[in-house]
Parts: sequence; structure tokens; C-alpha cells
Amino acid sequence: TDTKDGSKVYTIATDTTFAPFEFQNADGDYVGIDMDILEAVAKDQGFEYEVNAVGFDAALLAVEVGQADGVIAGMSITEERKNKFDFSDSYYSADVCMAVAEDSDITKYEDLKGKNVAIKTGTNGADFANSIKDEYGFTTTEFADSSNMYQDVQVGNSVACFEDYPVMAYAVQQGLNIKITDYREAGSDYGFAVSKGENAELLKMFNEGLANIKANGKFDEIVDKYTKK
Ligand code: GLN
Repeated sequence: TDTKDGSKVYTIATDTTFAPFEFQNADGDYVGIDMDILEAVAKDQGFEYEVNAVGFDAALLAVEVGQADGVIAGMSITEERKNKFDFSDSYYSADVCMAVAEDSDITKYEDLKGKNVAIKTGTNGADFANSIKDEYGFTTTEFADSSNMYQDVQVGNSVACFEDYPVMAYAVQQGLNIKITDYREAGSDYGFAVSKGENAELLKMFNEGLANIKANGKFDEIVDKYTKK
């Protein structure tokens, strides 16, 4: 889309709910670390955008097929994804953790034998669970969003789920009755992404804006706002 004066309005795809990175506040507006970084970067660089919260897997697909110009969704920078996306500099890092029901006695992967695990389509956590499911003898059920994945654990259809640690920790802090086990998998770095070879201008503005808001303190202010109590 374009504005009246002909300047471009970028469409940025994101997840539906991935607090504290993107979620709707009481007014229904999308807020969170990703949303506030995007807003600050756009202001710094003077570009316009609209956010399309379609879900994680759908957001990546939207960028791939050209329905969105970029994606910011707590998206991990991986070698595999670099075949399809160009990533910005990293702005956050997160481990994947295994979480279980509050009253569960599951503490390790061996305890998952013969049980079902909830995973979120297209995520690192899902890739990790799929990579160990045969070895540890568990099955998986996929969900498009984090809330439905957590719910499956809460109601007991699944005994565990795999989620990015900062997101799971935030949900627990908000009162979700799930507990995080000590099992963490290697960290990944989050980046803003565009389709490979496309929107180089947008990617450059994102990186420049990110560097500027890191230098002027705005970046830390945003992260603190959502992570410090
Ligand atoms: N960081 C994870 C990934 O990129 C999960 C992202 C998400 O669920 N929004 O796969």
C-alpha cells in the first residue's frame, strides 16, 4: 500500500500472541518488545507501516509469498531460515525450555516416553521436539499459537510443551499454571526478517534504526518496560 504522498506503507507480519514480544493490550492494540522496537525504529527512520498479526507460521509464509514486507515475531535467526529470509542484526536471545503442568512430576525428556507433547507449528521448539521424539518415544500435537499449546498442557491432553524461555517465564509470571523444567536447549537470536533478496531498503532502515535506538537508550527502555517488574 501507499500513502497519499506516494510513500510506501510497509506491511509487517507478526504472531497473534507471543508476550512479552507481541500481544494485545486492554484497548486491543498490539504492544510488546517487538511492537515497540518496530515503532521506535520506524520513527527513527521515518517509514510508515501497518502490522498484520496472523500467527507465527502464517507470518513467515506471508513474507515468503510477498503478502507482507517483513516479519518481527520473536523469530529466531537460523541457518535453515537464511535460505528463505534475510535477517537484521539480532536484538534478543532466547533458549527453548520444556514446560509441564504445575502438578506434573515430569522433569526430564526420559519422562516423556509414551506421552504426548504440544508443539507450535514452524517454531524452533517444534523442530527440537521433533528431533528427539523418536529417541524418547513421545508423540506430538501441533498448534498454530502459543495459547492453545499451553492450554493443551493445562487440560492434560499433552504432558509438556516446548517454548522460548522468556515467553514461558512471562506467562508463568502472569499467573499461568504451568511450570518450567530445568531442561533448556541452546539459545537462538531473534531478528527482523524480509524475504531473501527483497526489501533490502527496509532491512537497512531496520538495522540503522536498531543501532540508533540502542545508542540512545530507547531500546533498553523498551526491554525494561516489559521484563522488569
Ligand atoms: N523463536 C521461535 C522461532 O523462531 C518461536 C517464535 C514464535 O513462536 N513467535 O521458532
